[in-house]
Amino acid sequence: MTFELTILGSNSAKPVFDRHPSAQALQIDNQIYLIDCGEGTQMQLTRYGVRNGKINHIFISHLHGDHYLGLIPLLDSFALNSRTATLHLYAPPDLKRAIDLHYDISNGKLPYELAFHPTQDKQAQLILDSNRLQVYSFPLQHGRLPCTGFLFAEKKLPRRIIAHKIAQYQIPFTQINDIKNGADFTTSDGTIIPHAELTTENRVPYSYAYCSDTAYTETILPHIAGVDLLYHESTYLHDLAQKALERGHSTAQQAAQIALKAGAKRLIIGHYSSKYADLQPFENEARAVFPFTDLAIEGKCFVIGGV
Ligand SMILES: [Zn+2]
Ligand SMILES: [Zn+2]
Repeated sequence: MTFELTILGSNSAKPVFDRHPSAQALQIDNQIYLIDCGEGTQMQLTRYGVRNGKINHIFISHLHGDHYLGLIPLLDSFALNSRTATLHLYAPPDLKRAIDLHYDISNGKLPYELAFHPTQDKQAQLILDSNRLQVYSFPLQHGRLPCTGFLFAEKKLPRRIIAHKIAQYQIPFTQINDIKNGADFTTSDGTIIPHAELTTENRVPYSYAYCSDTAYTETILPHIAGVDLLYHESTYLHDLAQKALERGHSTAQQAAQIALKAGAKRLIIGHYSSKYADLQPFENEARAVFPFTDLAIEGKCFVIGGV
């Protein structure tokens, strides 16, 4: 099981100081979930060796350009690479109009299906439900533009079977999955062996929450409670808290307070304003509140779990 996050873009608004607008790649097993897609994302994917072909799901938090202007070039490159697999896109509904307009005026057509899943910012919603993973969107507070965060939550794992019990009770291979999922086993002489004797608890499922552009809001806490890894924007340092509020953004200190109150295990902060060349003060400010904070640095990979 691989569950790890690569930072592709860490800046707000525009590319400066060799930092790019928002984008992240979450790899879970053999799938890559692309989260936001700012300008230059496909070049960042190449730069950091993230395989385009593993991307089947893209999540866009909101329609400020620094979060989606790299999307249409990426869709085009998939087409140039003769992609045929369906691509799932989860985004505010208006993005569909922008994509359709581009392919209309360029007289182009994608050779693969683009399955568009519109998001909304009224309440939390389950937007993807696969064998291993559930993804929820939830509302952020970013002025008048609808904006959502995303929670990637691995599903509860079946219990682990105790190897020597298989031999001891001569359990047929065909029954092992049922036992892992809660079934008892009946031996040839009719004795019932409860599944609790045959199995042990599995590890706790992994989770990652992405809180894109947002003012400080505790309304998100129930959606991100106890996550293994939390990304929360920190556009400004706290001396500009008033400016952050007016623009629907947060400070490093506020991001750390959210991580603390949510009971997150680790925090990544990013979406730095273009006015800051030096990021060390962000780390210092956040760690004073929540020590387990790291800066979103492009190319850096955060391993959430690997078992
Ligand atoms: Zn932004
Ligand atoms: Zn924004």
